[in-house]
Amino acid sequence: MTLQAVPARYRIASRTAETHDTVTLGLEPLDRPIAPHRPGQFTMLYAFGVGEVPISISAPAGPGLVQTIRSVGAVTQALCEAGQGQLIGVRGPYGTDWGVADAAGRDLIVVAGGIGLAPLRGAVLAALADREMYRRIVVLIGSRTPEELVFAGELEAWRALGADVRVTVDRAGAGWTGNVGVVTQLLDGAEIDPEESLVLVCGPEVMMRLTARALCHHGVAPGDIRLSLERNMRCGTAECGHCQLGPLLLCRDGPVVSYQQAAPLLAVKEL
Ligand SMILES: Cc1cc2nc3c(=O)[nH]c(=O)nc-3n(C[C@H](O)[C@H](O)[C@H](O)COP(=O)(O)OP(=O)(O)OC[C@H]3O[C@@H](n4cnc5c(N)ncnc54)[C@H](O)[C@@H]3O)c2cc1C
Repeated sequence: MTLQAVPARYRIASRTAETHDTVTLGLEPLDRPIAPHRPGQFTMLYAFGVGEVPISISAPAGPGLVQTIRSVGAVTQALCEAGQGQLIGVRGPYGTDWGVADAAGRDLIVVAGGIGLAPLRGAVLAALADREMYRRIVVLIGSRTPEELVFAGELEAWRALGADVRVTVDRAGAGWTGNVGVVTQLLDGAEIDPEESLVLVCGPEVMMRLTARALCHHGVAPGDIRLSLERNMRCGTAECGHCQLGPLLLCRDGPVVSYQQAAPLLAVKEL
């Protein structure tokens, strides 16, 4: 087993409930930390005795890890229920990153659907830390309901640091005075300069397909649109083949790929 394939022990240093089914864990290494990561990469998180799952890193480069997990099955439920101080195993970091700095001198546009904001949070924070490098930083977020919005408590701080953050919900409850509708509707008001934008998109696959198509209608080149694709992953090291999508092994060649690369493959079903 290569060193990279052996989980490092991390302690849960903080635990924040984002929504009824989603938790953000702050993780600190107990002994050997994993290698430094870049925003967009993921780790394999191991709940001892339950199993291992791929989860994106929600933090910019730095010593600790921040990972936001939605409880959908046995492993993610165990991770979401883990308390402060509990140990989990971490392998990685794996995969490609958003390449945020490629937007230097241009507009960085981030489009997130639901928990898709988790893989993008590190990119937003990295860009805001170098705010003057970018012409504009625009963050467009779609959530099913106001209650399901992740990182809701951070969005004002992102605005204060110079991001134009806009939120829309599919279904508004009492007291919601913001936008209602799908996230692609926010593109129309975002004054996208197609020649001078790099767009990062993450959310359910159908949302990413529709967003990428709408961006192309706005004149953005497919090579300037990046998506984070999810497939069933097991090894994380391009050995098992579970995450194959056409010619790509997404744990190695993804999860972040350009729309130019992804468009012909998105009609291909997972093997
Ligand atoms: C690169 C990558 C990054 C990810 N980042 C995050 C993240 O930041 N936060 C987060 O909450 N989740 C993330 N996921 C999804 C997460 O890995 C799955 O939810 C998890 O593997 C489910 O495992 P489980 O044992 O809890 O549930 P299971 O019992 O394995 O699955 C429960 C349900 O979720 C579906 N499912 C399982 N795996 C996936 C998947 N990869 N994509 C979509 N549906 C799936 C199953 O079909 C089933 O319907 C990511 C996945 C990938 C590939």
